[in-house]
Amino acid sequence: MGCSIAYNLAARGMPGVLLLEREVLGSGSTGRSTASVHTHYSTEVLARMAWHSLQVFRNFDDLVGGQCGFTETGHLVFAGEGDCDQVGASVALQQEAGIETSIINRQDAAEIAPGFHLDDCAAIVYEPLSGHADASGTALAYASRARQLGVTIELRSPATGLEITGGKIAAVVTGKGRTSTERVIVAAGPWSRDLLAQYGISLPLKVTRHQVAAFRRPSLSPSSLPGASDMVNQIYFRPEGAGMVLVGGGGPGDTVEDPALYGHRPTQGFIESVWTRLAKRIPMMEKAEYATGFAGLYTSTPDRHPVMDRVAGIEGLYLCTGFSGHGFKLAPAVGAIMTELVLDGRASTIDISPLRLSRFQPGPGNQNTSSYGANVVV
Ligand SMILES: Cc1cc2nc3c(=O)[nH]c(=O)nc-3n(C[C@H](O)[C@H](O)[C@H](O)COP(=O)(O)OP(=O)(O)OC[C@H]3O[C@@H](n4cnc5c(N)ncnc54)[C@H](O)[C@@H]3O)c2cc1C
Repeated sequence: MGCSIAYNLAARGMPGVLLLEREVLGSGSTGRSTASVHTHYSTEVLARMAWHSLQVFRNFDDLVGGQCGFTETGHLVFAGEGDCDQVGASVALQQEAGIETSIINRQDAAEIAPGFHLDDCAAIVYEPLSGHADASGTALAYASRARQLGVTIELRSPATGLEITGGKIAAVVTGKGRTSTERVIVAAGPWSRDLLAQYGISLPLKVTRHQVAAFRRPSLSPSSLPGASDMVNQIYFRPEGAGMVLVGGGGPGDTVEDPALYGHRPTQGFIESVWTRLAKRIPMMEKAEYATGFAGLYTSTPDRHPVMDRVAGIEGLYLCTGFSGHGFKLAPAVGAIMTELVLDGRASTIDISPLRLSRFQPGPGNQNTSSYGANVVV
């Protein structure tokens, strides 16, 4: 998010943008993302952001410059009886927003996904234009273009504090000193909550650990594989290169107190569990071979929608965090929208009022997206 915002600010002509990075670019959740890029959301705001972003991923070199590694594979959503109505409503909402997606029958799905077991699906959704990208590569591509446009990027320079004078942002403090500024955007992923807690800003963010396993596909498996969100088996997967498949599982994940300290490798139990579930969808994957795996952090609000807002009472302070397990695919829109919020005072590309921080405070019209499962797909 930080790299996309910095690029978009500079592309709109804002001089003097400084991007501070605690470690190295992509070292947070982004570098551990499976980077699926699809548009299957159940709320209009995220569906529109995903669709806007998909166009950028697909035309990255023309629109931004550089390579984000987008690979079109198509994306399927498999839903059982219990999820059928909600999936139908989500697809209708997406189509209304102009998104290219539809519910397809099993025969069509069998052609798109040969060798898949489909008998347990009550509804199958297909997005032909979706796929995946290279997550850290995308961050670096944004950073590289941002630098060309005049942004300064300081690595291994965590912001340790903010100076707030008379209710206004006055400076950011790092170990190297103080940088005066009137505007700060906090896009610190899993670190956002602790960074702001010292100023009495309480963000309802939970940090959890999530695992991914990579399997080598058996030699007889079809050469191309679509990405998928499998609600029946509670997994998502996508191809990686010519011969691998990355598989992640749903579930709440283990809570992590310090984002710098968590296990980076998947457990044996996780690998076996997602392998079994993958083989239920693609039976030939029983003969796959485990290759490697990793784990990363989700930073989630109670409704798993991000917070993109200014902070009431502190002029010049903006928040862009809480993207849970689905933020990578939104990053191009996030950069453009946060830039509108900062430069124009309001977002015009997409109405982001559902993402205001105050939705978690008591009051009429707030907490209106309170179902933790509102967001269907990871
Ligand atoms: C296993 C896994 C799979 C995922 N799969 C997908 C997927 O398929 N599709 C999808 O769309 N999304 C996916 N996601 C979610 C996606 O990766 C995140 O939503 C997204 O990367 C969040 O980006 P961010 O910029 O908010 O956070 P981060 O990438 O964590 O970036 C925050 C940055 O801030 C830096 N930072 C922290 N504190 C400070 C400080 N004090 N000063 C300066 N810098 C600081 C950190 O070092 C970090 O680089 C997945 C996530 C995980 C963990």
